[in-house]
Amino acid sequence: MSTVVLVTGGSGLVGKAIEHVINTEPESSRFGKRPGEKWVFANSTEGDLKDPVQTEKLFEKYKPTHVIHLAALVGGLFKNMKYKLTFLRDNTLINDNVLHFSHTKNVQKVISCLSTCVFPDKVTYPLDETKIHDGPPHESNFGYANAKRMVDVMNHAYKEEFGCNFTSAIPTNVFGPHDNFDLEDSHVIPGLIHKCYRAKQNNTPFAVSGTGKPLRQFIFSYDLARLFIWMLREYDDVEPVILSVGEEEEVSIKSVADKIVKTVGFQGEYKFDSTKADGQFRKPASNKRLLTLMSQNKNEQQFKFTPFDEALEYTVKWFVENYNKGARIGKVA
Ligand code: NAP
Ligand code: GDP
Repeated sequence: MSTVVLVTGGSGLVGKAIEHVINTEPESSRFGKRPGEKWVFANSTEGDLKDPVQTEKLFEKYKPTHVIHLAALVGGLFKNMKYKLTFLRDNTLINDNVLHFSHTKNVQKVISCLSTCVFPDKVTYPLDETKIHDGPPHESNFGYANAKRMVDVMNHAYKEEFGCNFTSAIPTNVFGPHDNFDLEDSHVIPGLIHKCYRAKQNNTPFAVSGTGKPLRQFIFSYDLARLFIWMLREYDDVEPVILSVGEEEEVSIKSVADKIVKTVGFQGEYKFDSTKADGQFRKPASNKRLLTLMSQNKNEQQFKFTPFDEALEYTVKWFVENYNKGARIGKVA
């Protein structure tokens, strides 16, 4: 039987990165396409996954054998703070429909995408895969985080009741080409790239939200894409895997903003707006389990993450080149 991999959320930051990697890595290499394999990248115009009828139609159209489930209502800190119920409800509906039809249509394997937001706010660091349900998530994104946590619960229930091979990946903050660069609703890196670019164009101050002190771990979307393809090929367990750089690679928002200022080439006034929220102070996650699992395949070299500065430069360049050519810049006054 041939393999059909359906990527939900295929038009987004992570979906586009998987499409890029699967089409550019050598065929049959660790992260490349396999002979006879078909990849489908679906977005919401192919069907609204909040709706069970449209979800079933999508599954009937493509008859996937494997699903990488990325589709979600996604946003940065400020969008999460504004729309808690919508994040909870939309993502719950999407995830329930995708897992239900994956089960009833006999999909062999599903990898769903969680986020390090799912972890408890009060917890010992570093975060690891055993700590997901050890306490409530940070209040700033409890809608999104609780919807995502339930995927892990459902994966275990589908396995216990029906023997399904459903699992999940837990990435940290992701960035790269095709990100959402909206000025208000995006994550910090795309939001600040766009704000800095506009400040340079308009000769206005560049304002970073919050104090700049919180710490984050970032992963380049092309690295994350390779790790999803590794999970699809080489990982068969229900327990989630954190897909992240090492916990020692936490960086402050200020140092990210400094690097963006330098990469964009902005020389004007640069300030922090401490009336805006900082969100969770830090959430360092361990990639120990990931590296241990990946190194079990002795025929393959150790996975190398793209250095942060290199990935940031690549992303800024992509944004500038695509600003008037379809980059997701949102509403610009
Ligand atoms: P994104 O760029 O916002 O893309 C979201 C994708 O989901 C788009 O393809 C979108 O389709 C699709 N989608 C949204 N609502 C849908 C619906 N009701 N029905 C069908 N498709 C729908 O998101 P992303 O950053 O690539 O995120 C991918 C996954 O990674 C998500 O599960 C997210 O929670 C997770 N994640 C992201 C980050 C991050 O920093 N970005 C961090 C951790 C985890 P349209 O283009 O048609 O709207
Ligand atoms: P989080 O990692 O889930 O909290 O999500 P974000 O990617 O939205 O990062 C939030 C952190 O970046 C907080 O400390 C914010 O105060 C800070 N930040 C600074 N400027 C911005 C901005 O323009 N957009 C966003 N989303 N966050 C910003």
